[in-house]
Amino acid sequence: MKLITNCERCHSEIKIPSFFNDTRIDLAKSKGETFKKECTKCAHINNIHVDDVIAVKTNIIIITAISTSILSIILTILLWDYGYISLITISIPFTLTASAKKYEKNKILQFNMLFYNSRRNKTNKTLFK
Ligand SMILES: [Zn+2]
Repeated sequence: MKLITNCERCHSEIKIPSFFNDTRIDLAKSKGETFKKECTKCAHINNIHVDDVIAVKTNIIIITAISTSILSIILTILLWDYGYISLITISIPFTLTASAKKYEKNKILQFNMLFYNSRRNKTNKTLFK
C-alpha cells in the first residue's frame, strides 16, 4: 500500500510515507490533521489534509511473486532428491503471493474507508457537485 495525494498546483502525484500509517487517524497522529509537503515536480508547498490522502496498490505483489518464485525454484532444485518436500516448495510463491495480495487489499480498504473528519468530507462532496 502506498499513500498519495495530488499537488494543488500541477496535479502531479505526491507520495506520503506510509510506514505505520494504517489509517487516516494514524496519519493525523503522526503528521497532524493538515501538514505541509513539497511537490517533487513543481516545488510548490502543499497544505495537505489527511482526508485528501488516498491509499493505492503498490508493486509489492509482483515483487513478492517474482522473489518467492526464484526462491522456490532454488529450493525445489536443492530438495529435489527428497521427493515430496519439493512439492511443498513449489506451492510457496502461490501461498505467499495470495496472502500478500489479501493483506494489501485489506489495508487499502481500511485506509480509504475511514475519514478523519467526516463532516469536512461531506462539505467537500457538496462543493464538487
Ligand atoms: Zn506540483
